[in-house]
Amino acid sequence: MLKDQDRIFTNIYGMHDRSLQGAKMRGHWDGTGEILSKGRDWIVEQVKASGLRGRGGAGFPTGLKWSFMPKESDGRPAFLAINADESEPGTCKDREIMRHDPHTLVEGALIAGFAMGAAAAYIYIRGEYVREKEALQRAIDEAYEDGLIGKNACGSDYDYDVYLSHGAGAYICGEETALLESLEGKKGMPRMKPPFPAGAGLYGCPTTVNNVESIAVVPTILRRGAEWYAGFGRANNTGVKLFGMSGHVNTPCVIEESMSISMKELIEKHGGGVRGGWKNLKAVIPGGASCPVLPAHLCEDAIMDYDGMREVKSSFGTACMIVMDNDTDVIKAIWRLSKFFKHESCGQCTPCREGTGWMMRVMDRLVRGEAEIEEIDMLFDVTKQVEGHTICALGDAAAWPIQGLIRHFREEIEDRIKAKKTGRMGAMAAE
Ligand code: NAD
Ligand code: SF4
Repeated sequence: MLKDQDRIFTNIYGMHDRSLQGAKMRGHWDGTGEILSKGRDWIVEQVKASGLRGRGGAGFPTGLKWSFMPKESDGRPAFLAINADESEPGTCKDREIMRHDPHTLVEGALIAGFAMGAAAAYIYIRGEYVREKEALQRAIDEAYEDGLIGKNACGSDYDYDVYLSHGAGAYICGEETALLESLEGKKGMPRMKPPFPAGAGLYGCPTTVNNVESIAVVPTILRRGAEWYAGFGRANNTGVKLFGMSGHVNTPCVIEESMSISMKELIEKHGGGVRGGWKNLKAVIPGGASCPVLPAHLCEDAIMDYDGMREVKSSFGTACMIVMDNDTDVIKAIWRLSKFFKHESCGQCTPCREGTGWMMRVMDRLVRGEAEIEEIDMLFDVTKQVEGHTICALGDAAAWPIQGLIRHFREEIEDRIKAKKTGRMGAMAAE
């Protein structure tokens, strides 16, 4: 278990003063000017050495992403965009940072922006996060008043602004290029990549888009050292991380833990165990709605990191688990997700626009058992037609949970279809 002194987020449960004064007492904004004085390259190299990978879900190496930003200006300003549009069902870790420990993010925004030669940071926060927006705006205002950001930020001779932009509740605006479109005042529709944002991002200028947690951990990594951070977890999966647990655990929570902890340890030590005991576990969606669901027998020894989740053919995603016990209708749970993705598709590309509707309609019949057995394979084929054939990852996100369901719960789907045909359909499935 992670020791208290190794936690980066010291106020994740809101037990302490979240104001600038409180944040400083807990060690934030300590020596920030000195960190900046070490220069852009030093910061980028330290972040690379720490092994930090994007905490929004994709896990792209953060330092490497920063190094894509131009070293010399070609006349265009550069920007940092912080993705606070946390909308993945089952995920609410960034929310805790913004409402209880907002100065970690503001300080991180300064250091990261400086390292990339950015003129400003734009934090794009999801529409539903109203209190979080207020807390974050207060922290930004305090940082300006204290000379930590703005002109000559932290006495570094560097001018740096931080703007907060409030979304309007569209899931797709969390996709990095849709987020940039929305910031520009347009409809939030993903752009084709390449070009990646470092080449042409906000207003066509070099931009890096990073998740809230990825930015908020940077000041502590630099203060304590890349080696310290890399000492947690295992190779390729280093560091500490905010994990979430919702669903059928006794104490749903967000907890900071070492990477590569086992799923069972997380659930038992921090989630108070599965409702009715570990034997009552049916399945876990490990990292937000887009990750393939895992049956209980694969959860037993599963390691919560990028490689660990890949080994069991799922993904680490946001590391916020949705835990389901034996009373759960897992077919219905995945049907509900397919409905969500169909609703959130921006409709721009055909495989996603049409495919999400197709998948949802077949899932609709599977839930009720009103399908033919052959349709299970047909549905799997449809997911393969969508996966990898769309402009953004929403198509993949819609396909993967269904693939996981078919891979691990085919028998349950078949039983339901057979039961319906023979008139033995259970009450729950018949709903
Ligand atoms: P991605 O793998 O396409 O990209 C990840 C990041 O790496 C992006 O910033 C991208 O620009 C950069 N990148 C990738 N390849 C690059 C290259 N060749 N050159 C330069 N930069 C490159 O994934 P994504 O679409 O950004 O994210 C998908 C993930 O987001 C999903 O796996 C899901 O877990 C997660 N997600 C999270 C939330 C949330 O609320 N946190 C919501 C929806 C989805
Ligand atoms: Fe829009 Fe879906 Fe295409 Fe993404 S994959 S651009 S959400 S239609």
